[in-house]
Amino acid sequence: MLPLLLALAPLLAQQVNQPLPAWTEGTLDIHQINTGRGNATLFILPDGTSMLLDAGDLGRNAGPRGVPAKPDASRPPGEWIARYAARVLPSPALDYALLTHFHDDHMAGMADVGARLPIRKMLDRGWPNYEGLEPYQVPMLDKYRAFLKQKQVDTERFAAGRANQIVLRRAPQKYPNFQVRNVLVNTEVWTGVADNTRQQYPRMEDLAPADRPDENRRSLGFKLSYGKFDYGTFGDIPGRTREGGAPWEDMESAVAKAVGPLEAVILNHHGNRDSTNAFYLASTRPQVVIDPVWSSDHPAHDVLDRVLSQRVYPGPRDVFATNMAQANRDVIGPMLNSLKSSQGHILIRVDPGGATFRVVIVEDGDESMKVLAIHGPYQSR
Ligand SMILES: [Zn+2]
Repeated sequence: MLPLLLALAPLLAQQVNQPLPAWTEGTLDIHQINTGRGNATLFILPDGTSMLLDAGDLGRNAGPRGVPAKPDASRPPGEWIARYAARVLPSPALDYALLTHFHDDHMAGMADVGARLPIRKMLDRGWPNYEGLEPYQVPMLDKYRAFLKQKQVDTERFAAGRANQIVLRRAPQKYPNFQVRNVLVNTEVWTGVADNTRQQYPRMEDLAPADRPDENRRSLGFKLSYGKFDYGTFGDIPGRTREGGAPWEDMESAVAKAVGPLEAVILNHHGNRDSTNAFYLASTRPQVVIDPVWSSDHPAHDVLDRVLSQRVYPGPRDVFATNMAQANRDVIGPMLNSLKSSQGHILIRVDPGGATFRVVIVEDGDESMKVLAIHGPYQSR
C-alpha cells in the first residue's frame, strides 16, 4: 500500500541521499532550521508567499548545556538562516518575519537576517512601545529597532484573533482553503469563535509585579491551516502554573480550547519541563511533533513521556528533534530511541490541497541540503 501511495503522490521528487528538490506551486513547506543556537521556522506558503518565524542567536558559546553550532560557528546564526532561506525561497525576500517573543534564542539573529534578505512586513508582540520588558532585553531590542529603522521595515503589532493579518500575497484566490489564524499575543487568546479574543490575565495593575506574565507567557502564536492540514506554533508559552501560582498562568490550556486538533505542532518552550501539559496534548493530538532543541534540558523527561503516552491520546505520532544533546541521552535513556530523528533540519512538506504531507530530514552539518530521511506520507484528518 505504501509504495502505491508514494507512486500516486503528486510530489515524489525527494529521495534519500539526494539534494532536496525545490518547492513547487501549491505545496506548503515548513522548514524548522537547525543552527544549534535557537529557533527559526521558514514557511513557503502555497502561492510562494514567504515567512520567517524567529531567528535565534544564543551567541558563540552556548555553555556546557548547549549543543554544537550548525553548520559550524564560523558565521552567526542569522547569517546561516538567511543563506538557508536564499537557497529554498522562490524569490530571495521575506514577505513576513515574526518574533514570537524577545528572548535571544528567538530574536537575536533577526537583524542579521534582515541585513541579507529584504523583509516586507515585520510583526512582533510589542510594536511600537515595547512595554513590559526586562532590563536584560533592552540591548537586544535596541539592535532590532535600529535595524527596523535603518531598513525602514514596515512593522505592525501582531493582533490576536485575526485571520487577515498574515495572508497570501501572490495568488490568494487560488487557495481559498489556506488560512493563518492569529491565536495569541501578550496573554490575549483567541476564543475559537469568529475573531473574538479574551484576556487570560487579570488587569496588570491589579497584580504584584512578580505575578505579572513573564516574557514566555507573552509569546505570540498562530494556527496555520491548508485544507485539512493544521499546524500550531505558540512560542515559549508554558502549560503549567508556577508552584502555588494562579490558574491563568497556564497558557497552553486556553490555546488548546481554541485551536482543537492539529496535524503537527512544534513543542512549546522547546519541550521544557513547564510545557506540553496533558490537556494540550489530548486536545491537539498531533501526528507529528517537532522539538526545536538547543540545550540538555530539551525536552524534559516527563514532557517526552507525555508526548509518547497512548493514555494521553491514542494513535500513532512521530516525534522529531533538531539537535539532541548527548547529556539528554544520558539522562533520559532508551525513551529517546523512539524519536524518528534527533539531528537535522526538519521539513514538513504538505502536498497541494493539504490532504497529505511528509516529514523530510535535511543535513544540517553543511549547506548541501541533502535529504537524510523521509517519513510519511501522513493523512490530514
Ligand atoms: Zn526559547
